[in-house]
Amino acid sequence: MTLTGKMLIGQHAITGNSAAIRAINPATDLPLEPAYPGGSGEHVEQACALARAAFDSYHATSLATRARFLDTMADEIEALGDELIERAVAESGLPRPRILGERGRTCQQLRTFARTVRAGEWLDVRVDPALPERQPLPRSDLRQRQVALGPVAVFGASNFPLAFSVAGGDTASALAAGCPVIVKAHSAHPGTSELVGRAVARAVEKSELHPGVFSLLFGSGREVGIALVSDPRIKAVGFTGSRSGGMALCKAAQARREPIPVYAEMSSINPVVLFPAALQARGEALAQGFVTSLTQGAGQFCTNPGLVIARQGPALERFISVAADLVQRSPAQTMLTPGIFQAYESGIGSLLEHAHAQPVAVGLKREAPNQCQTHLFVTRAEDFLADTALQAEVFGAAALIVQCADDEQIRQVIEFLEGQLTATLHLDDADVEAARALLPTLERKAGRLLVNGWPTGVEVCDAMVHGGPFPATSDPRTTSVGTAAIQRFLRPVCYQDFPDTLLPAALKHSNPLQLRRLLDGQREA
Ligand code: NAP
Repeated sequence: MTLTGKMLIGQHAITGNSAAIRAINPATDLPLEPAYPGGSGEHVEQACALARAAFDSYHATSLATRARFLDTMADEIEALGDELIERAVAESGLPRPRILGERGRTCQQLRTFARTVRAGEWLDVRVDPALPERQPLPRSDLRQRQVALGPVAVFGASNFPLAFSVAGGDTASALAAGCPVIVKAHSAHPGTSELVGRAVARAVEKSELHPGVFSLLFGSGREVGIALVSDPRIKAVGFTGSRSGGMALCKAAQARREPIPVYAEMSSINPVVLFPAALQARGEALAQGFVTSLTQGAGQFCTNPGLVIARQGPALERFISVAADLVQRSPAQTMLTPGIFQAYESGIGSLLEHAHAQPVAVGLKREAPNQCQTHLFVTRAEDFLADTALQAEVFGAAALIVQCADDEQIRQVIEFLEGQLTATLHLDDADVEAARALLPTLERKAGRLLVNGWPTGVEVCDAMVHGGPFPATSDPRTTSVGTAAIQRFLRPVCYQDFPDTLLPAALKHSNPLQLRRLLDGQREA
């Protein structure tokens, strides 16, 4: 399939009319063909008008039709074959096995949402039947279900060119909820975006849906992206990326005549607490697990373990020494974009200049452009607590170890942290009470708490939470990974005293969708 450099507005391939972007292969620093001219206000207008026109019919599709559409998207992405894999490798610098795995995850994610849609639990049907004889006042017949919010703008993430991009988690969950989607492609991987966008458009056509269910725009975030978020027909936004980018979108969404929710996943340093008995018993294995997690994918995961917290003493010194040795032997790895590499270098520069961040190890020298050398730093809890700069995310394979005097100082360090996606505890039986004492603080700080594991690797499943208090996300009440992500794009509507014929299928008296309703306060079997 030849790449065209065109956007997709519904089923129409359109050439943009603003400055063109060209992907750069970060492994060579060379540009890739073709050029992708950016869209402008008129394209945002067309895509939004089409998405609005598609909304009522798409939202009214049966659960079976919508689920089949999500399954077809997965089939169409798989049918792209090696061309997609090669392009994604070239545009991201990520190794082929990682991209193959990510395609698998993307398709599994779509099929998981298809299963979720079919099951219908997300409609959260609640029925309080009429009580005409109730004294002193009768009760009306009240029925509640969830409905889709409306067209959603999705910003593709740089670090997951498939699984959190054009047909990634935000798109899958919004489409599952019944919302048309307009994607603002990430400028780092336009070719991958075009290929996947065309696969989605084919799925729309094969499923005989309104063409406005999906559009794909290229161009600058500050122009096309802000115009999209500001358009009154857009009703919610999904984003993964920098704190400044996420906050710019939140600001634009709040400045609208009708403010809308922005689900922005931004920055997290994912603290790991090493408790004394665990550190004593298996410090070396912990150091190995830590460096493996830290260096995976050049550290370009939102769940990268960037902060280790432990009591000072010989066990921690041994952990640091083993980790430093492993870091020194870790190869440099290509980062996603020259911009992300520069941001990493600048973050490392700030730490190197910091009076209280002591460098303990640097990875092997880079051999090609845009390669990330792993960095490990150590600081004392008093110094960490004195300067918020030490908890700024350095996106890449960099971590800081905080040495604490006692459990109370460990708690203070955690209390001092901003909101996080994850917090990890390494503990043995003798550590359980100290861990229990820390839990109330940890629950306030993070969306996912792990014991004796590593935070990288986020399962797509029903129980997953990939979210957390600001700045991990702009809205801590929900998740961007896993089936609960569908709730971001829903809102409840109550139908009072409706005749059965006017009720949506989910709420009819005969319960034709066979949903497990909350009926008069009791969950149906
Ligand atoms: P980014 O710069 O935030 O870009 C993400 C998307 O948002 C792009 O489509 C971009 O458009 C748009 N955007 C950026 N700033 C904007 C603004 N002020 N107004 C409107 N739209 C805007 O993120 P990135 O390119 O993926 O990476 C840059 C940095 O983000 C990294 O170095 C890292 O620090 C952080 N990051 C964090 C995570 C995480 O999960 N925590 C993940 C990825 C990146 P353009 O196409 O115009 O750039």
